[in-house]
Amino acid sequence: MFAAWLLLEKGLAVDLYDSNTRPGRKFLLAGQSGLNITNEEPPALMAERYGRGRDLFLSLLRDFSPDSLRTWLGNLGVSLIKGNGGKIFPERASAGEILDLWLARLNGNRHFHFIGNARIVQWDGEGLHLNNGDRDLLIKERPVLYALGGASWPGTGSNGSWSGIFRDRGIDVIPFKPMNCAFSVAWSSRFRESRTDKPLKNISMFYGGESRRGELTLTDTGLEGGPVYWFSLPLREEIERNGFAPIHLDLTPDKTVEQLERDLKKRSPRKSLSSFLKGTLRFSPQKAALVHEAFRKAGEMPPSELARGIKKLPLTLTGTGPLERAISVSGGIALTELDDFLMLKKTPGYFAAGEMIDWESPTGGYLLQGCFSTAYRAVEGMEAFLS
Ligand SMILES: Cc1cc2nc3c(=O)[nH]c(=O)nc-3n(C[C@H](O)[C@H](O)[C@H](O)COP(=O)(O)OP(=O)(O)OC[C@H]3O[C@@H](n4cnc5c(N)ncnc54)[C@H](O)[C@@H]3O)c2cc1C
Repeated sequence: MFAAWLLLEKGLAVDLYDSNTRPGRKFLLAGQSGLNITNEEPPALMAERYGRGRDLFLSLLRDFSPDSLRTWLGNLGVSLIKGNGGKIFPERASAGEILDLWLARLNGNRHFHFIGNARIVQWDGEGLHLNNGDRDLLIKERPVLYALGGASWPGTGSNGSWSGIFRDRGIDVIPFKPMNCAFSVAWSSRFRESRTDKPLKNISMFYGGESRRGELTLTDTGLEGGPVYWFSLPLREEIERNGFAPIHLDLTPDKTVEQLERDLKKRSPRKSLSSFLKGTLRFSPQKAALVHEAFRKAGEMPPSELARGIKKLPLTLTGTGPLERAISVSGGIALTELDDFLMLKKTPGYFAAGEMIDWESPTGGYLLQGCFSTAYRAVEGMEAFLS
């Protein structure tokens, strides 16, 4: 949709096909959890968030930066606000309202045509074959930009079915894996029963010598939330290698070990640890239950040892949650298949953008920024191809 916008601005005509009757379903879904649209980090730092796509993104973000995206949204009439960690959100507009504004501007251009309910079923030397209900369509024209998404939340239309069609054309598509996903923990049955759906607020998570502050949701099968998403790539890789990945949580990041130890020493032997943590130290029931889950004899531990334990509570992650429920995916078109303009080297005139390319990033506004920046570059390539 952003590529269509840019192409129309250049005076070109655009046909946009989507298997849904309306584009932008995943954008709407992203809006349900806040729509963190970009991040104010400078491009050089932001590029580091894209893992092995770092070099590509260094150049992409120089051309279409978070500032460029903020300007574009401003021109669309969307005001923005800053959250924690440089995250940028729409101030008032919902994802639905942004999508409406965006589509209204596209539809207002007589050179724009949207063809919904049109699914790509084959791609061969003749062109691109789509099925539009009871009609078959063949698109022979080039350039074509593919923006078919990843393979999570298939109900949004991004079901990854394109990967087989691309492999049939000899294009290397790296298998999809979940990113920014839930992780499994083998909770005890006692913990599972006592658990509530309330988030575990204000914790720090430690992994691989780094820490991340935020909140986690403890589910029946494990945990999810910002801090664990941040580490999801190395965590997933460690689980693939070893079958598990150890992490630590600091349940009281605003207190030092010494302060916590002093507090714990105030507990009278007659008071249970659980009621002391919840009543005197104001631990949420989730936090108190986690202490007992990690340390079976927590009530008998000396305050110094317990304080160290609560500040470095060990948990073992044993697997990732399902791909279908992940916020994003790793995998997709191998970077080696694309030239600097994101054109598929084996099929001149065919370009790719967005999550269908094999890059990944944590949450924090990097995913949508990545989609916009790749679209911007691909449009430059399409223009060059035409001339
Ligand atoms: C719950 C959730 C919350 C999120 N929150 C955020 C957030 O706050 N910030 C952020 O940066 N990112 C967020 N994301 C990620 C972000 O929404 C995606 O990375 C982004 O939408 C991907 O855009 P895309 O254009 O590459 O693909 P998509 O938005 O997935 O679009 C792909 C399109 O291709 C169409 N398509 C697929 N296959 C075919 C076919 N064979 N024929 C025809 N059409 C086809 C689909 O119908 C779909 O419309 C979130 C994702 C989820 C699931």
